[in-house]
Amino acid sequence: MTTYQLEPIAALATAPGIGAIAVIRVSGERSIEITNQLFYGKNLTEQASHTAHFGTIRNADGSIIDEVLITVFRAPKSFTKEDVVEISCHGSEFIIQQILRRLMAEGVRLARPGEFTQRAFLNGQFDLVQAEAVADLIASDSDASHRAALTQLRGGFSKQLKELRQQLIDFVALVELELDFGEEDVEFAHRDQLRQLMLTIRRVLHPLIDSFSTGNAIKNGVPTVIVGKPNAGKSTLLNALLNEEKAIVSDIPGTTRDVIEDELFIEGIRFRLIDTAGLRQATDQIEAIGIERTQQKMRDAALVIYLFDGRNSQPDEFQLAINEIRASGKPYILVGNKLDAISDETRQTLEAIADEKVVWISAARHTHLDELKSALSARVRLDAAVQTGSAVVTNSRHYAHLTGTDNALAQAIDGLDSGVTPDWLAMDLRVALQHLGELTGEITTDDLLDSIFSKFCIGK
Ligand code: GDP
Repeated sequence: MTTYQLEPIAALATAPGIGAIAVIRVSGERSIEITNQLFYGKNLTEQASHTAHFGTIRNADGSIIDEVLITVFRAPKSFTKEDVVEISCHGSEFIIQQILRRLMAEGVRLARPGEFTQRAFLNGQFDLVQAEAVADLIASDSDASHRAALTQLRGGFSKQLKELRQQLIDFVALVELELDFGEEDVEFAHRDQLRQLMLTIRRVLHPLIDSFSTGNAIKNGVPTVIVGKPNAGKSTLLNALLNEEKAIVSDIPGTTRDVIEDELFIEGIRFRLIDTAGLRQATDQIEAIGIERTQQKMRDAALVIYLFDGRNSQPDEFQLAINEIRASGKPYILVGNKLDAISDETRQTLEAIADEKVVWISAARHTHLDELKSALSARVRLDAAVQTGSAVVTNSRHYAHLTGTDNALAQAIDGLDSGVTPDWLAMDLRVALQHLGELTGEITTDDLLDSIFSKFCIGK
């Protein structure tokens, strides 16, 4: 594939703000020559790809702006497949501005958000799914979302889909050829093979489609709600969990990440505790947690923590509450609180009623909170069957095209079964191809590209 070099662009590639080092990336036609104009050191235009050179960047009058290390990447062996120069300078706002200004004076323009990645995509460095994974990777802030993005970046599902799409294209061509023969009863496209291919594609699509709710949860957090009767200890538990989280985060040296209210990271999964405002407020409000109110709370949740007071649970009422939770169809965990204040006998009685695993804790004393956390993460992993390294769909655009393809193929198969004419068949197949093509970026529109790449930050 021929690669293209567009006009030179530059941007700060590292995070803005003060740091020990900042990296300015320059990409495009003549970017090595242009940088060489400002650089005092070796002649960069004579240096091999993937080499680093120490020197100074200077003002037009020869005064030094900064000592820098310059890395040269020659097309097509660079991120954008264009000539690329990375200038590592000291991370001061002033120095960065001065260097960028010098580059501008030499005819380089500031890059738009995502422009480097867009160029990489246009030069065939990767497909659209992978380009979007770059954005996700940059934004990933939990182990699981990082892993999902990395899998996609490595080719993930799009490579396999691309191959299957190609096979489908060949079939469509044959079916369309049949159309040219009009009245004559010819069949160039082998129907059984076509059916097999469509079934194969659907088999590939289904786990991806199913992974979306998990993928989305991993990316955005698993919406989790704590429900239970008043005085069960919900706010005590919430505070215990969040305080532990704050302690964990501030124990990691050098972390500056603010603890986001109501978020919990357990074994790489992000849990978003929803509807916690009520729990954090004064407790003296008389809250009639009727079943209706609980159900409403549970509606937005993907995971329910049902917390009950072990000391104060009437068997009948307890049974009723558990039935309600089960009827909701939501994944849940039963958590018995106030372990410090109940007898073994009470515990066994309640466990017998529940007839399933209960996690016993004392929210007030922070007892068994680790067990609760393991149970939470195990529950999510179980539902999701998130296996390390398997492709997980986290992007709603991908999800829409995956389901679009699947529906079109289902129709095409139905059509085959009922013996539709080739023109109907071709139409369903075309729809499937369109979705697959848009998914991997083999079919693109400028609007789509703009909307995807504008979500990147500048310098990416
Ligand atoms: P909520 O209404 O469900 O939010 O319940 P709260 O968190 O306000 O707790 C109700 C009462 O139970 C408070 O007096 C807490 O101190 C008490 N409580 C909470 N957790 C425990 C526990 O583990 N053991 C004991 N003995 N009391 C607890």
